[in-house]
Amino acid sequence: MKERARFAPSPTGPLHIGGVRTALFNYLIAKKNGGDFILRIEDTDAKRTVLGAEDHIKDSLKWLGLKFDEGPIKQSERKSLYKNCVEELIKKGLAYYAFDSAAELESARKESNGEFKYNYETRKSMINSFTVSEEEIKNRVERGGYVIRMVVPEKETITVNDEIRGSLSFNSNEIEDKVIMKSDGMPTYHFANVVDDHDMKITSVVRGEEWLSSLPSHITLYNHFGWSPPKFYHLPLILKSTGQGKLSKRNAEEQGHPIFAVQWEESKGFKESGYTPEGILNYLALLGWKGKNEAEKYTLDELIECFDSNDINKSGARFDIKKALWVNHLHLKDFSSKKILSLSEQAKSLLEKKYSVGVCEEIVGLIKERLNTVFDVEKEVYVFVGQPKNYDADAIEKITRNTIYDILNFCKLNEELISEPFSLKESLTSFGSENEISFGNIMKTLRLCMVGSLSGPDLFKIIEVIGHDETLHRIECLINKI
Ligand code: GLU
Repeated sequence: MKERARFAPSPTGPLHIGGVRTALFNYLIAKKNGGDFILRIEDTDAKRTVLGAEDHIKDSLKWLGLKFDEGPIKQSERKSLYKNCVEELIKKGLAYYAFDSAAELESARKESNGEFKYNYETRKSMINSFTVSEEEIKNRVERGGYVIRMVVPEKETITVNDEIRGSLSFNSNEIEDKVIMKSDGMPTYHFANVVDDHDMKITSVVRGEEWLSSLPSHITLYNHFGWSPPKFYHLPLILKSTGQGKLSKRNAEEQGHPIFAVQWEESKGFKESGYTPEGILNYLALLGWKGKNEAEKYTLDELIECFDSNDINKSGARFDIKKALWVNHLHLKDFSSKKILSLSEQAKSLLEKKYSVGVCEEIVGLIKERLNTVFDVEKEVYVFVGQPKNYDADAIEKITRNTIYDILNFCKLNEELISEPFSLKESLTSFGSENEISFGNIMKTLRLCMVGSLSGPDLFKIIEVIGHDETLHRIECLINKI
């Protein structure tokens, strides 16, 4: 049987990173087995539907490169399917009309100190198909304003299997006769979800751990219809960096990192914060899964190859933005120079004003190791296009102005050496030992002069790329400044 996994978000808000992780695991489970990845929009709750949320879901998946083979399939367009299925259960006596008003339900709740559960016992004293005559059912149905509930059998053990957690048993008496069709004629999440998974021939249901408690109700529905259930994978929660509590938008804001893949309203996504889809997908795969070879860096194709659902963890996964950044770095540094330039328009145009395409790519090769985000490209190539805007004052104090002056003056007097970095290095070494200036200070001075700070790519490569005149110009600039 062909593997079919679906990502089934509700468009009740933007797609946050936890939802993206669910989409990714669905994608991996489908693709690992050569199957289909399907997008289903669970939009049966019109009141909670947020304008733009569906587009945000699609834009996020698109940016990440998680292409769906089918969809988006929208539940709001499949009402007749759910209606037929509800009727089937009513006929079988496995679903029933419930006519209780909001006030009646409220008073039942009050009487039981908030413990009220509509179930095998309480249904006997409420207003529903079990307690009113055929005639009255007909009349009340004609008047509308009712809901339909599923029958949960009394005193049964419902056994469910979760691929990650193993076999779990639930006492049916603890489970409510859930509403499956609302008074507006729309199915509830539980009902549409089960009907669709069956109708769409879904083989693997992969979703967040918060849905585990709904599983016995879902299994009851499968049993009512006589359908065999798919495999279930309830993914571990994504926790705050402290390990305490679920990662939330508020918590992400406090920590100063994105929570969405792509921008939502004022909230910048990982995309707008300089992350790559490759880095984000890779990091999310590690939230709850670890490859057998303990590797940390995977492309999407490598993930498909290495992914084994048996290696998904049960326990919550801590979100660590530093690790996300590091994983992003692992990808950026391995991209081709051409690809890196295509990610930063600004860096590309800065470089192309000065250099040939070949040299531009060579320059990017020199800075790759230093990239954490896409924004770093522009920052890092700047050294090849303009003199430093300012100089690290602490470094100047440490090396001392006199020493800096002596070193730079030596370079200026021997300017013909600039075009031959190797000879420049050699004569600077002898200059240093003759004047008791450490080689470390010589290198620091030159770096300060070329870059403005004590970090940056290979110094003599910078000198080679920017050439004699620009190097001399930067030397003179710093001489004049100190
Ligand atoms: N619509 C549900 C959600 O928003 C889907 C849960 C499931 O995958 O069954 O998470």
